[in-house]
Amino acid sequence: MSARFAEVLVPVAVAEPYSYAVPDGLDLTVGDLVTVPLGPRRVTGVVWQLAEAPRYARPGRLKPVEARLDAEPLRPELMAFVDWVAGYTLSPRGMVLRMALRPGETLGPPRPRIGVRRTGPAPARMTAQRARVLAALEGGLCHAKNELAREAGVSAAVIDGLVDEGALEAVALPPEPAARRPDPDHPTVDLSPAQGAAAAALKGAAGAGFAVFLLDGVTGSGKTEVYFEAVAEVLRRGRQVLLLLPEIALTTAFLDRFARRFGVPPAEWHSEVAPRRRERIWRGVASGEVAVVAGARSALFLPFRDLGLIVVDEEHDGSYKQEEGVAYNARDMAVVRARIGRVPVVLASATPSVETEVNARRGRYHRLALPTRVGGAALPKIAAIDMTRDGPGRGRWIAPKLAAAVETTIGRGEQALLFLNRRGYAPLTLCRACGHRLGCPSCDAWLVEHRARRRLVCHHCGFSMPRPPACPHCGTQETFVAVGPGVERLAEEAAALFPDARLSILSSDLIEGVERLRAEIAAIERGEVDLIIGTQLVAKGHHFPRLTLAGVIDGDLGLGHGDPRAAERTFQLFYQVVGRAGRESGSGQGLIQTYQPKHPVMTALIAGDRELFYDTEIAARERAGLPPFGRLATLLVSAAEAPAAEAYARALAAAAPLEAGVRVLGPAEAPIAVLRGRHRVRLLVRAARTVRVPDYLRAWLARVPPPKGSVGLAIDVDPQSF
Ligand code: ADP
Ligand code: ZN
Repeated sequence: MSARFAEVLVPVAVAEPYSYAVPDGLDLTVGDLVTVPLGPRRVTGVVWQLAEAPRYARPGRLKPVEARLDAEPLRPELMAFVDWVAGYTLSPRGMVLRMALRPGETLGPPRPRIGVRRTGPAPARMTAQRARVLAALEGGLCHAKNELAREAGVSAAVIDGLVDEGALEAVALPPEPAARRPDPDHPTVDLSPAQGAAAAALKGAAGAGFAVFLLDGVTGSGKTEVYFEAVAEVLRRGRQVLLLLPEIALTTAFLDRFARRFGVPPAEWHSEVAPRRRERIWRGVASGEVAVVAGARSALFLPFRDLGLIVVDEEHDGSYKQEEGVAYNARDMAVVRARIGRVPVVLASATPSVETEVNARRGRYHRLALPTRVGGAALPKIAAIDMTRDGPGRGRWIAPKLAAAVETTIGRGEQALLFLNRRGYAPLTLCRACGHRLGCPSCDAWLVEHRARRRLVCHHCGFSMPRPPACPHCGTQETFVAVGPGVERLAEEAAALFPDARLSILSSDLIEGVERLRAEIAAIERGEVDLIIGTQLVAKGHHFPRLTLAGVIDGDLGLGHGDPRAAERTFQLFYQVVGRAGRESGSGQGLIQTYQPKHPVMTALIAGDRELFYDTEIAARERAGLPPFGRLATLLVSAAEAPAAEAYARALAAAAPLEAGVRVLGPAEAPIAVLRGRHRVRLLVRAARTVRVPDYLRAWLARVPPPKGSVGLAIDVDPQSF
């Protein structure tokens, strides 16, 4: 007998499912995707529970479920995961569900694919466009209409015209498969003994339930080939694999490597995948047809039919943290999802996060170490250039020692890289006459000059404007000077120093779109570039065979902000940047320009002593009670007017429950005090390791009325920075 009431979770900002009546004849199961009325709208929701009695409204007033969608029901593991993430991040459950339903939200019936083929008669009127269509159909082959239009370089209307005239015939095609099946037994490289041992441990874990592995290998140690063996084993068992990669690492190089190992590339999942393709992958993941997904953090919420393994590559990467909306760290949530699904998870990194390193040291995570590079290549030798003594002089950024090293490297026909983690031309523009600095009208931030775009840009909200002809403060004409370097300015200096070098500037704002970025990276891999100037785009797992020198322009940029993760982030970034060098030749060199050559981060880098860095950093965190030895959360209050934000933050602070091991600090101005015209005030929760922070926050919020009007409250449990 079918249930009479359904509790349906809808993908909007609600915490609980709504009750609906189940019409006679509609047979529902938990996890089904259904359309339901929601106020004036119809939305796609998920049957969270079935019941004989509704929970809230009087049964007579309940609206009915309209229809069940033609899609696989969500699996209990995914539903449990949605519940867990919502509970941990204090997000409305509906908003977490929304991440899982996208693009299922708009899921219609599978779309028919229309193909066309030649019929007998030639068209009455022949045009160049029509001739191209017919040529593409040479041999009477059947073609999908949209592919044919693309191939012939015509609009679909041209093809429709030919169909109307009877020169072509429209036919229904079978649905396109979402992905071809990777072949686990495709020929592969011979693993080194260390790789073999790590791969064997992972293979042994496939099918043995939940476990966390830290695949801890130096840069160029062949971590990818190792986890590919675990992927192969899981595929042999007929189960699915999720590979999480920092978004930018979804380069063709990775996809090509996967294809070399498995015969076909994995299905890709990130923001640039076209909506139709997303829909097909979503369905393919749910049906089990898609065996491997390589995706950015949002892929965690895909509806896998039978997930057997999760890999988080470059697990330390900051892009795993989502800060807008549901604030979650995909690396941590991957571990949660693996636990719920009782499958192994592999965290791979040459520079593990301090949290992961501590877990491995305590034996909670199994460490699989790859201490040397493939083929025995040595790790790069790192030296500091002391900018207090050996700097390049005013208005220049490349020290003579670094310039000489670049010269030698390029002269040998090898590649060099200059790293500066600053987009644009100059971080600051000021008036020579009065010292006025150009700032963003809606943020508490300076405008950054982007000379290539001829605009001044706010890196926080995207506002941009041309450089004004006169100072808005004192009226002096033609008065602005650029202060400090960005990659564009660095490239200008490099072009002057090395006029014959082929330069490539790798910066997200200079290279629009994934395709162009991929092409640029491929050109570097092929050795068509002598000198790479890059922002943190270059630090992410690339393998540039001819690169032997990596120079860091501003070694002090990330240090000393009072941010507790500054040291960790700086160490990881430089270690990774320098780790791009000498991956094949083994004669890599790293040079770091710094005003603080004695800083512990620099000392550890120069000594090539990773353990020294972790020992120092772990001890410092433990002393200060910082993660993972203590827990943090931030409550960010924002409002159009500063007093409204401050008043709500004060009310929040006053209502904070007293609990042993918890301290609430603030309210204080947030690091960016005004963002997009909204004033921001923040409270910081510091708690002992044993405190269940989400529960504490829930108890707290239950004592305060929710924010009203323009006031907003954003909660971040385990913030990346503060
Ligand atoms: P990591 O991710 O640890 O930095 P990669 O997995 O990118 O290292 O491997 C570095 C390079 O070595 C890649 O070009 C890879 O194809 C190659 N490689 C890895 N393992 C082997 C092996 N056993 N034999 C030959 N080449 C290998
Ligand atoms: Zn702004």
